[in-house]
Amino acid sequence: MADLLSYFENIPKEYRTIFLVGGLSFLTLLESNFPLLNFQYKKIKHISLNLFFTLTTVLINLAGASLILYASIQSELLGFGLLKFLDLPLVFEILVGIMFLDLVGAWLVHFLEHKVRFMWRFHIIHHTDPFVDASTGLRHHPGEAIFRLTFTSLAVFLSGASFGIVMLYQTLSVFFAHWTHANIKIPTKFDFILSYVFVTPDFHKVHHHFTLPKTDSHYGNIFSLWDHIFNCSIKNYKIQSIKYGLDTHMDIEETRNIKTLLLIPFQKYRAPRGSKFSA
Ligand SMILES: [Zn+2]
Repeated sequence: MADLLSYFENIPKEYRTIFLVGGLSFLTLLESNFPLLNFQYKKIKHISLNLFFTLTTVLINLAGASLILYASIQSELLGFGLLKFLDLPLVFEILVGIMFLDLVGAWLVHFLEHKVRFMWRFHIIHHTDPFVDASTGLRHHPGEAIFRLTFTSLAVFLSGASFGIVMLYQTLSVFFAHWTHANIKIPTKFDFILSYVFVTPDFHKVHHHFTLPKTDSHYGNIFSLWDHIFNCSIKNYKIQSIKYGLDTHMDIEETRNIKTLLLIPFQKYRAPRGSKFSA
């Protein structure tokens, strides 16, 4: 365990890139062989558009890595954070650290993106994808990437997690982002059982249904536990009845144009059917 942590503590940027590209390529290969839905789309064109947003997300995270490092050093210097307080054996320190980072750095910010109108405007881009596949995982507006970076830094500071735990979490988080969006067919029972604890491909697809209340459910990134605990999961969903997209942005041309997508947060607000946000 200590070796694993020291590996991630010193992991070169190139290796993290290899994990990201390798994971995405592997899942894309699986999608071709075991698709959940048979999309009638130009896959390369679709992936290229989503890779543009993946790249901007990665660049913002690289630029913001110093913020995360700063948060980690500050909590270390102050002896601050949940993990310092709990003082657990290493294996539990890693587990609790990853769970806390997932809760605050991913679940909470995602939940707020659905509840705060200003944040939702940026998150819309992620939901407009009519063909959810592995490449959708990091299809985030640069503004959303900044929200997420801020919350990850906050989570690092509050958790007092070592830099090794933070890097391990980040690597897992990127893998889960791609894996849970992947258009792959998994045995339904297996997916269902696993989804009590972890976010699975079927579990996350519910979140991409085009209308409320499904859109405002299943916020999890790695652990689905938070959705079960905070009552944000939908019981008895049927994956076959899921229709991707967002009722406010169903024009296919609008969902596959980089410029239009980048400008969505600044266009006249369109309220989804059944939303508590008014137009
Ligand atoms: Zn969402």
